[in-house]
Amino acid sequence: MSIPPPKAIVIVGGGFAGTTLARALDARLPDGYELLLLSEESHTTFNPMLPEAVGASVFPEQVVAPIRQMLKRARFVMAKVNAIDTARRTLTATTLAGELSLRYEHLVLAFGNRARLDLVPGIEAHALPLKTVGDAMHIRNTVLRRLARIELENDARVRARLGHFVVIGGGFSGVETAGELIDCLASIRGYYPRVAAHELAVTVLQDQSRLLTELPERLARAAHRSLAQRGVDVRLRARAVAVDERSVTLDNGETLSTATVICTIGTRANPLAERAGLPLERGRIVVDADLAVRDVPGLWALGDCALVPNADDGRPAPPTAQFAVREARFLAENLLAALDGRPTRAFRHRSLGAMAAIGHRKGVAEVLGVPVSGLPAWLLWRAYYLAQMPTLGRRVRIFVEWTWGMFFPNDITHLRFTRSGELDASRGGAGEAP
Ligand SMILES: Cc1cc2nc3c(=O)[nH]c(=O)nc-3n(C[C@H](O)[C@H](O)[C@H](O)COP(=O)(O)OP(=O)(O)OC[C@H]3O[C@@H](n4cnc5c(N)ncnc54)[C@H](O)[C@@H]3O)c2cc1C
Repeated sequence: MSIPPPKAIVIVGGGFAGTTLARALDARLPDGYELLLLSEESHTTFNPMLPEAVGASVFPEQVVAPIRQMLKRARFVMAKVNAIDTARRTLTATTLAGELSLRYEHLVLAFGNRARLDLVPGIEAHALPLKTVGDAMHIRNTVLRRLARIELENDARVRARLGHFVVIGGGFSGVETAGELIDCLASIRGYYPRVAAHELAVTVLQDQSRLLTELPERLARAAHRSLAQRGVDVRLRARAVAVDERSVTLDNGETLSTATVICTIGTRANPLAERAGLPLERGRIVVDADLAVRDVPGLWALGDCALVPNADDGRPAPPTAQFAVREARFLAENLLAALDGRPTRAFRHRSLGAMAAIGHRKGVAEVLGVPVSGLPAWLLWRAYYLAQMPTLGRRVRIFVEWTWGMFFPNDITHLRFTRSGELDASRGGAGEAP
């Protein structure tokens, strides 16, 4: 008698949604099923902490966690999924060992979305998006390079341009990035003796009448005040209409001279969702109340890539980490019910609040309707993300490193990954155009 091979439950995407789902299902599947998580990177990224990595108040490796350390029995394969055939229930992916083709019984799409770089002319060529840990490291290195460059520059106009950092977007990531940047510049300026305080500036452009529209007005005002007190130039109702190598143009015709534009606005659908021919609305996959993709048997979607109806308020769930985690726990139960032949339930979650870190040891939060700001909000923020880290050992290590980092200047190591063979190459190296 031959034993049939296990049926695969496959999750695509190792972000907040995919890893929470995998952990909730791990070792709970009935006999005859195996769980497989495919993701294009071997780690999960704590996106809300990326601005802190930009501001060098945490190291990049402290905002990621290895997916393998999160799983017990489930299998992980680092793979980029390229195509899905929902009729045959198969998918193909690129792995380190070449193309992988596999059949699934149930497939869960948790592949998030991508940065959109065509909202303002010039953004794709000249602005720095913030969506991945690679983006955060690139921005951090760019900031350090700009300071090192000002040290060597004599032309006052070029110095001013190099020292001006413009952040497009006054939502969570824009406000967090601006707050981190201004604190980072203040903390590290002393290491660049030829750079004066007045030569460094951070501007935030927000095309709405206030910052942080995701938060109650009172907290948004507190965040605005805090940024302004630390010297950030917050421009409300200011929309960038063009970006080039040396400037940003606003809708009122004003031109800001800058060498560094960080873009935190705009997302677009993951190209895989479009290629698979799935029903999309506002760039997100349309799912039913139980998170099953409409009219496609065996297919489910959640997190940022899905338009999930929330039975609590009848509105689509927002694309946030808090909702991605809740949806994942919910979907785990629905999947187990589906395998068992039991009815599934409609997703329902009432937000517990929202938090934003707006600089070193500063935050704003609303938790269960109670507004909190300053250091307590920032500690809450850190505690929340620390609790999400896998394994006790990693949590303790990061707690010690974060605590240590709170009392010392930000790190100014500019890691360039230069390899031996490149050291004496005639081109490349430290040079850059002003
Ligand atoms: C800079 C920034 C700041 C943010 N701040 C906050 C905040 O303060 N609070 C908050 O609640 N939310 C915040 N968010 C949003 C939050 O991070 C997202 O809502 C959350 O990450 C969504 O989780 P997800 O699992 O759906 O998607 P993601 O976390 O984006 O994960 C998607 C995963 O899928 C993988 N993947 C993509 N395509 C493929 C493919 N073809 N094959 C295999 N794998 C693939 C990706 O590599 C990734 O691991 C922020 C986001 C950013 C970028």
